[in-house]
Amino acid sequence: MQQAPDDPAHPARSAPRAADLAGLDAAVTGCRACPRLVAWREQAGRVRRPAYRDQEYWSRPVPGFGPPDAALAVVGLAPAAHGGNRTGRAFTGDPSGDVLYAVLYGLGLASQPTATGRGDGLRLRGVRIAMPVRCAPPGNRPTPAERDTCRPWLARELELLRPTLRAAVVLGGFGWQAVLPVLAAAGWRVPRPRPAFGHGVRVVLAGAAGGPELHLYGCYHPSRRNVSTGRVTPAMLSEVLRRGAADAGL
Ligand code: SF4
Repeated sequence: MQQAPDDPAHPARSAPRAADLAGLDAAVTGCRACPRLVAWREQAGRVRRPAYRDQEYWSRPVPGFGPPDAALAVVGLAPAAHGGNRTGRAFTGDPSGDVLYAVLYGLGLASQPTATGRGDGLRLRGVRIAMPVRCAPPGNRPTPAERDTCRPWLARELELLRPTLRAAVVLGGFGWQAVLPVLAAAGWRVPRPRPAFGHGVRVVLAGAAGGPELHLYGCYHPSRRNVSTGRVTPAMLSEVLRRGAADAGL
């Protein structure tokens, strides 16, 4: 039965049916299951920032970015209203992405240090960037219900990546809290009590049913505030990503 994209059950019913990441990416971009986030992402595209007044905003859910056989996942929380929600690509066109992609380039995991839009030619090597919430939320804070509604999209993405995925770096404590149940749904054993977030924290998750283990890292989010206050520096981000990439064999 066809599922209406504005039905709250749409992600849970549609995501498991995606046979590959291309199909999943196509399906997620049509999702309208969270009315508050649909309204917010579309309003951002209508009102726009003065600097982007002449640009057509994406204003849809943002799919994952990177090869379908990635060994390392980098997971944030949700797109920014005038970043990913504008450009249609994760961490693209906002200060966090400026730092992240420059660091990935420095590690040899990105083809160029800048990310400005989907047509900028950027390619990632062995890395897939994804988010547990695909639509820009007001105040960068999804509600628990929105986070849970969106969970099946990332769960299926990680499930499809599982044959090659060996490490994941989660950016920020909110992302960490959101990702742990996704990892459990996607095929890894998450310890109880759940491991606490911290910068540089590393947890090795066993694969369920004899599947491959996953090296999970916590890392402070390279938000404009965190970078400007020095809570996280490009060097700190680079070090965690370097360790994750090494665990992933990159
Ligand atoms: Fe769909 Fe996720 Fe966006 Fe909600 S946040 S509308 S579940 S893509």
